[in-house]
Amino acid sequence: MHNGYEKSQAAFAEAKKFIPGGVNSPVRAFRAVGTEPVFIERGEGSRMFDIDGNEYIDYVLSWGPLILGHAHPEVTEAVIEYTKKGTSYGAPTLLETEMAKLVVDIVPSVEIVRMVNSGTEATMSALRLARGYTKRSKIIKFEGCYHGHADSLLIKAGSGVATLGLPDSPGVPESVASNTLTVPFNDIESLKLAFEKFGEDIAAVIIEPVAGNMGCVLPKPGYLPAVRQITREYGTLLIFDEVMTGFRVAYGGAQAYYDIDPDLTTLGKVIGGGLPVGAYGGKKEIMEMIAPAGPIYQAGTLSGNPLAMIAGYTTLKLLGRTGVYEELAAKSRRIADGFKEATEELGIPSFTCSVGGMFGCFFTDTEVVDYSTAKTSNLDRYGKYFREMLKRGVYLAPSQLEAGFTSLAHTVEDIDRTLEASREALKAL
Ligand code: PMP
Repeated sequence: MHNGYEKSQAAFAEAKKFIPGGVNSPVRAFRAVGTEPVFIERGEGSRMFDIDGNEYIDYVLSWGPLILGHAHPEVTEAVIEYTKKGTSYGAPTLLETEMAKLVVDIVPSVEIVRMVNSGTEATMSALRLARGYTKRSKIIKFEGCYHGHADSLLIKAGSGVATLGLPDSPGVPESVASNTLTVPFNDIESLKLAFEKFGEDIAAVIIEPVAGNMGCVLPKPGYLPAVRQITREYGTLLIFDEVMTGFRVAYGGAQAYYDIDPDLTTLGKVIGGGLPVGAYGGKKEIMEMIAPAGPIYQAGTLSGNPLAMIAGYTTLKLLGRTGVYEELAAKSRRIADGFKEATEELGIPSFTCSVGGMFGCFFTDTEVVDYSTAKTSNLDRYGKYFREMLKRGVYLAPSQLEAGFTSLAHTVEDIDRTLEASREALKAL
C-alpha cells in the first residue's frame, strides 16, 4: 500500500528554510528525477521506511556503504558496545592497527594505510602525496569520474555535478583547474596523447576502475592494463579510486578483480560500515612520505575514530566469508538482466551491465563506455521510471548517472518483487 508523500513534502519545505536546498548532499534532493525527496525514518536489512510509512527495497544503500544491509545486527551491536567505552580519544588504539592489518590483508596493492573521514579526504590526500612524491604538479582524471569535491578533482566530475548542470563549480580557481587534465574513459589513445604532451609533468592518473558516477561503466578488456603500463613508463603514480568499488566488486576491490597493481588506492563507503570513514594506502615507499613518517602533511581530529573503525572492521570481517561476492554478483546480474528482458519485450531501448555488487541500467540503445555515451540516456524517461518505481516500493538511485548497489540483505523475493515492479513501471512509461 502506498501512503503518499505528505509528511515528506512538509519536511522538505521545512528543511529548505535551514539547510541549503534542504539537503546535506545535493543528489539527495531528487532534482534529476523531477520530484522531491522522501524523508527516511529507519532502515532494516534491504528495506528503508519513510516518515509517511512507505516501505522501500533499497538499491542506494547510503550510496554504497551498506553492503550488509541496514542496521546489520552484528555491526549495530559492535558499535553500541564500543560506544560505552567512549566515542573518540584523539590517541592511538589497538583497533586502528587491527583495522590497518585487515585492509592490508584484503587489498592486494596496499602495504600500509592511513585512515581519514571521507572519500573526498582520501582522494585529496592521495593527490597531495602523489604530487609531493613525484615533485610534479599536473594530474589526469577521466570525464565523468567523480572523486569527491576537492578543488582539483571537481572538473568534469559526473553524477551530482553532471545532473545539476555544473560542469565546473564556481569557486574552483583557474590556477587549480589548469593542473587537472581530463580525458575520456576507456580511450587509451587520448591518454597517450595527454602523456605525449605533458608526460614529464604528470604526478598522477586517478581513475575509478569501474566508473560508478556516470551510471555503472565497465573498463574495456585491456584498458586498465594499458593505463598501468603508460603510467609506469612516465614515472606517474596510478591511483585507483576504489571508494565505491573497494570491497564491493570483489573483496580485494577492482584491483583484485582485474588484476592490476596501482601505486595508491583510495577507499571509503564499505570500509566504514555506514559510519564516516575513508582511507588511502599503497606502496610503503610512497606512503612513508606522509607525516609524521615523512614531510607531506595530512591529519584529522576524528581520523581512526573507534566507532567508525569497529563498524568497518566488523563489516569487512563478515564480508570475508566464502561465497559473498558470487552472491552479490548473481543479484546484480539478475537485476540488470531482468531490466534488459523487460525493456526488450516492451521495445524500450536499454543498455545494462553489472559487476560484483554494482549494476547499471541505462535508457539508451548505445553501448555505454564513457561519459558521452552515458549521456545518450533518456534522462527524462529515467525520471519517470524512478518515480514509478518509488510508488511501487523500490528506491533506486535518484539519477540515471549513478550506479545501483546490491547487498547481502537483498533476498530472492526482494529481487523478484523489484523485477515485477520494474515491468509495471516500464509499462506505465
Ligand atoms: N570517490 C568515488 C569513486 C566516489 O564514488 C565518491 C562518493 N560517491 C567519492 C570519491 C567521495 O566520497 P565522499 O562522498 O565520502 O567524500
